[in-house]
Amino acid sequence: MKFDPRLVTTKAELRAAVAELRAARRTIGLVPTMGALHRGHTSLVEASRARCTATVATIFVNPTQFGPNEDYARYPRTLEADLAMLSAAGADLVFAPSRDEVYGPRHSTYCIVERASEPLEGRVRPTHFRGVATVVLKLLNLVTPQVAFFGQKDYQQTLVIRRMVEDLDVPVEIVVCATIREPDGLAMSSRNAYLSADERRRATALYRTLRLGQDLFDQATMKPQAIVDEMRAVIEAEGEVEIDYLVLADPESLEPVRELQRDTVALVAARVGKTRLIDNMIYSRRMKAEG
Ligand code: AMP
Repeated sequence: MKFDPRLVTTKAELRAAVAELRAARRTIGLVPTMGALHRGHTSLVEASRARCTATVATIFVNPTQFGPNEDYARYPRTLEADLAMLSAAGADLVFAPSRDEVYGPRHSTYCIVERASEPLEGRVRPTHFRGVATVVLKLLNLVTPQVAFFGQKDYQQTLVIRRMVEDLDVPVEIVVCATIREPDGLAMSSRNAYLSADERRRATALYRTLRLGQDLFDQATMKPQAIVDEMRAVIEAEGEVEIDYLVLADPESLEPVRELQRDTVALVAARVGKTRLIDNMIYSRRMKAEG
């Protein structure tokens, strides 16, 4: 028989359920999601179960992180299937609130993480990380987990959340889990459901370009800008895939790198038809002394 997580929809129920877990001395892991779950999400639940003795998953399509012309209204909402997946993955408690439950009518406070929020995604989606940081801070305050789990898939988001937690002294450990991919390399994403069969095929260009970048980085014979040019060519050859950005950046500052450095993150965002996809890969070079 499947393990049944408890479903709560109000903040009061959530706080009461969390109090029970705390009274039972459980170590709480938090997995925030927007639902339309896939194996990327359940990998976070598994990571939480490996570290913690109670896992709280949240399902909330957060309106404040969507821009006015983005896909808030049509974002996939699949609560029944999500609950079945969380049940199979072994979550203990699921918080799936309504919009009004999370944001009261007089809500007017937002968490702005300067600098980390500004480049890349921040330039294309200027209010996105304000919404992300605000909702994550609210969830951390409601659930008071010891550990919270996020995917590397949203690399800049992990930097924003780490900075917020450090700057605001939030007593939680942030764990970042590897990106889960389809067999052909496409990073799993709830937005992949928007892709037509043809777009789905083109979408693999993001992974292919990141792999090419990895090879060129490992060869260490080209400057970053030349590598980026080769990477762009992979996507441009695909046609009908519009690049928003494609950079080799410093993993902490997200500043584009001018010379090859030991650790570099490649980040790409592109539109395939109407669907905007992001992906990234961390390139790490062993120094000669390490063999
Ligand atoms: P979302 O529902 O898209 O807001 O994602 C919720 C959490 O799942 C975030 O921490 C994401 O980074 C993470 N996530 C989404 N897709 C993946 C993936 N393919 N692999 C690992 N984590 C993911």
